[in-house]
Amino acid sequence: MGRRLQNKPTSALGTGAGLPKDQRPRTVADPVSTLSKPFKIPFKTRSSAVTTNGKSVRSARLKGPASYSEMADGAVSSEDKENEVIDVNGNVIISKKKNALKRLSDTNDFIENKLRKTFTVPLANKVNNSTGGASPPPPLGTKRKPIMVPRPLHDPTDETAIVLYDPTVEKIISDDDLEALDKAIAEAKARDEGIELPKNEEPELKKKNIKVQRSLREMLGIAKNPEDAEKKFPDVPVVIDPKLAKILRPHQVEGVKFLYRCVSGLVDPRAKGCIMADEMGLGKTLQCIALMWTLLKQGPRGKKSIDKAIVVCPSSLVRNWANELVKWLGEGAVTPLAIDGKTTKPNEVVSALQQWSLAKGRNVVRPVLIISYETLRRNVENLKGCEVGLLLADEGHRLKNGDSLTFTSLDSLNCKRRVILSGTPIQNDLSEYFALLNFANPGLLGTRNDFRKNFELPILRGRDADSDEKDVKKGEEKLQMLSTIVSKFIIRRTNDILSKYLPCKYEHVIFVNLSEMQLKLYRHFITSPDIKKLLRGVGSQPLKAIGLLKKLCNHPDLINFDEEFQGSEHLIPDDYVNSISVGGGRNKEVQTWHSGKFQILERFLRTIRSESNDKIVLISNYTQTLDIIEKMCRFNHYGSLRLDGTMNINKRQKLVDRFNDPESPEFIFLLSSKAGGCGINLIGANRLILIDPDWNPASDQQALARVWRDGQKKDCFIYRFITTGSIEEKIFQRQSMKMSLSSCVVDEKEDVERLFSTDNLRQLFEFNEQTICDTHDSFKCKRCFGPDSKQKIKANCMLYGDATSWNHINHSGLKTTNDHLLKNEAEFNSISYVFQYISHV
Ligand SMILES: [Zn+2]
Repeated sequence: MGRRLQNKPTSALGTGAGLPKDQRPRTVADPVSTLSKPFKIPFKTRSSAVTTNGKSVRSARLKGPASYSEMADGAVSSEDKENEVIDVNGNVIISKKKNALKRLSDTNDFIENKLRKTFTVPLANKVNNSTGGASPPPPLGTKRKPIMVPRPLHDPTDETAIVLYDPTVEKIISDDDLEALDKAIAEAKARDEGIELPKNEEPELKKKNIKVQRSLREMLGIAKNPEDAEKKFPDVPVVIDPKLAKILRPHQVEGVKFLYRCVSGLVDPRAKGCIMADEMGLGKTLQCIALMWTLLKQGPRGKKSIDKAIVVCPSSLVRNWANELVKWLGEGAVTPLAIDGKTTKPNEVVSALQQWSLAKGRNVVRPVLIISYETLRRNVENLKGCEVGLLLADEGHRLKNGDSLTFTSLDSLNCKRRVILSGTPIQNDLSEYFALLNFANPGLLGTRNDFRKNFELPILRGRDADSDEKDVKKGEEKLQMLSTIVSKFIIRRTNDILSKYLPCKYEHVIFVNLSEMQLKLYRHFITSPDIKKLLRGVGSQPLKAIGLLKKLCNHPDLINFDEEFQGSEHLIPDDYVNSISVGGGRNKEVQTWHSGKFQILERFLRTIRSESNDKIVLISNYTQTLDIIEKMCRFNHYGSLRLDGTMNINKRQKLVDRFNDPESPEFIFLLSSKAGGCGINLIGANRLILIDPDWNPASDQQALARVWRDGQKKDCFIYRFITTGSIEEKIFQRQSMKMSLSSCVVDEKEDVERLFSTDNLRQLFEFNEQTICDTHDSFKCKRCFGPDSKQKIKANCMLYGDATSWNHINHSGLKTTNDHLLKNEAEFNSISYVFQYISHV
């Protein structure tokens, strides 16, 4: 009843009569006093804070309550009490509203806390229990790792596919498996020795347990752990990228297969290194790039085998390697990090190497580091701890000294797969053999001392002149044993196999007569008091004397008569002018008629220029010889290019590219044999003259290989000039001897020291004036006879390393050769004899 009374209008403003209660305007008893009263904001917590702190309502709201802990504890603050008093409603309702507010005003922390709480997946626990405590389910929202079915990257069934690894035939043993295998072997050994292994039962039981309690998922084949699941799939074939398979020569395919078998452990799972010792021009670089590319992209488990690889090489070849990557794999296939130590600043090198070393997995953007030996040695600390998948050591004979800094620093890298590339045949020196193999496969031959005891000493003892039959036999056995182990990890093919797909190569050793002037000076020099002293073992500078004679054989212009040929003034013709010492005008004529070699050279160049579009490479050990040839070219207006040791790498490449361009006007390329950089490829030329011989047959072979190599389209003509009967023939004979004797190479230094014995010196300075070819005389050749010692019988087959099997051509035989340059020489008297090798007979 009272309610009803309240509903009645209480004033003149009581216009709400007749409306439902909630729609009526509020009754205001005293409007003036109500309006003048301070405002009360309905949900008080904040407003009170505002009033007490004097802060604006807005900022207070944004900030939220100062502390939740008080509220959570249920402690009633003075503010709350205030609320209770002021609020019209009951306490209970207020407290409820307070909680609601708390939630509403919660900050991110609170939300995050809620969201972070682990969810429990229904039934998950039960499943866990049944399988005996498998790992808990992944947090919600985490994608379960997909089970990757390993697939080969390239189709192994394709007609042209080259399969490096066929899992149906053999199995690559992973490192984990190898460990397990080792363990099993150790256990078996222990068992054999009667040691009880109580653990033995355990794995059996475990296995059974799992089998009995297989979960539904397992039965359906949806196994729990994706990695376990992946293990169940068989290995996949590894196939050479078709873009490389297309260009690889048969011997290169064989080489890549060899490399892959070694580094993947198919030869020996504990020895993943090897030595690639193919001769120049067989494409060692391409074979290694094919290997690296395969490992970077493929593996027996369908994933890549390695993340990163290092190519270490002489600094002059760093650029070359980077170019080769682009050349064979295409632009952008691999972005290498190339550091040659010259163009990169030291501190940049350090930070680049640190970054490279830290990158892992997908963060590896530059998987291949190309670096010079020097720079790597200095910065090897920055690569410590970084796992390197593959190490390619180009010109790896630098590692033949096991005590050198280069060896130890490279050896400290964390890398199992190590490939040594070397075009230089490995010397017959056993300690070098050991060093190289021990680098590739540490521990394969035991320690240095083991090796000495087991192999080196017995083998050397067997070779000793005083050894008895027993020692000889033992030595041979040990050598056989060693080569059985070692041959598994070394591949070496000779240039001969190139002949299958390269054009024909005609290689000539041309024995050149000295000019009248040279002849007189030669006689004068070898009979001079200095040389006589030298031959008695009193003189001290045999090297200098050898050098002078070699220079004289090239051209008298190389000699400083006042200092080096004292007392020879009366032997110098009146018309003689030295083109070097006189200097003078750019177009000075070179007196070619005072040198046998230059007479031939001049005629060769003239004939090439007038009768063909062939190009020719001229190589000498002496830059001064190149100077004279350059003068000669300029005088005759022959376009020529020149590369020697002083030129930087970028310029070199430009020069080489220019020369190889068939449109370029230069048809002569002058090259210093000391310029290094074996990568120089001069296939634009199909002719090459080696003006003077080097002590080291390998360096001559490197020079020769610049022309007759992959990409060459024309028949090639190689000429090696050797002065008849002179010191050069002696050098050549020593070379050939070394070539035929197990192709070993001796250090130049050591070589010269051996020459210092007076016996050897006497031989060297002996001048055989009467002969047309001292070397041929020494062959005691049975195929050449008659008054002019003409070759009557051809050899059954020509062996490149053995000049006795080559064609022997005397002066009259020049007329019938198949080279128009040599035919032309029949009219002149400069050539006394020729050995000819033909690659395709
Ligand atoms: Zn002969």
